[in-house]
Amino acid sequence: MARTKSPVVIGGLASVNAVRRAANSGNAQQFKTRPSATTLPKEKQTAAGQKNKSAVASHAKRTAMPVKHELLCYECSYAFKVSGMLKNIICPKCRTALCSHDITIDTTWSKSVKTIANVIITETGIVKPCEIVASDVTIAGDAREVSSIKTGRMLNIDKGAKIDFSKIEFKDLAVKAGAKISFKEELFCNDAEIAGTIKGPLVSEGTVTIKAGGLLQGSLQGVHLIIEDGGGLKASLNIEHDEEELKDE
Ligand SMILES: [Zn+2]
Repeated sequence: MARTKSPVVIGGLASVNAVRRAANSGNAQQFKTRPSATTLPKEKQTAAGQKNKSAVASHAKRTAMPVKHELLCYECSYAFKVSGMLKNIICPKCRTALCSHDITIDTTWSKSVKTIANVIITETGIVKPCEIVASDVTIAGDAREVSSIKTGRMLNIDKGAKIDFSKIEFKDLAVKAGAKISFKEELFCNDAEIAGTIKGPLVSEGTVTIKAGGLLQGSLQGVHLIIEDGGGLKASLNIEHDEEELKDE
C-alpha cells in the first residue's frame, strides 16, 4: 500500500519542533489537524488539510461562517457535510432521518443505539447485548457484553473501561490517562494516542503517539511513532516509512 501521501501528524510536545521543521521545508500544509469531536469546525480542517481551499478557509475565519460538520450516515455509510446546528438531519442519499444526539449510557443498558454524534459509556454504565453505532465512542464502563460497537472515527478508552476489542470497529484509538487495556490478537487502528497503558500487538496505519505517562507494551507495527517526554515504550518495534519526512530530525 502506497503511503507516499501520508500526512505528517504531530502532537503535543512534539508539535513545536515538527512545525518548525515543516515551516523550514515548506511542508506545513501537509499537516492535518486532529479532530477529537464531531463538531470540529470545518474551516479549521480546511485550513490545515486542503491547500486548494486555503483562501476560502482564511476568509471563513475572518467572517465567522457557520460551523460545518462532516457526517457519515449510519444506515448507508454516505459521507456528507452539513452546516449549522446538528438538528433534523436527513441523509441526502437514503433519506433516513438521522439521530444527532449524544447518548450517555450510565446504567445497565441493552437498547441498540445509532447516532451521528457520540456515545459515552460512563464508569457506571454496563452494556448488555445490543448494537451501538456512533461517530465517536467513549468507554469508561463495562462494554464486554455488547454485541457490537461501530465508530465512524474515534474510540476513546477511559480509566476503568472493560472491553472486548473483537466486538469493536473503529479508526482512531485514544487510551486516556489511567486506562489499562491488554489484548492478545493484533489490534488494528489508524492513529493511536496513548496516555494510559496498552499491552498487546498493535498495528497502526497512521501515527502512534505515546503521551507523558503513557506506556506501550507488547509490539508495535506502524508508520509513524511519536514518544513525548515522559512517555514509555517497552515493545518490539517495526516502524517503516515510505517517505524521508523524518530524516532531518
Ligand atoms: Zn444514508
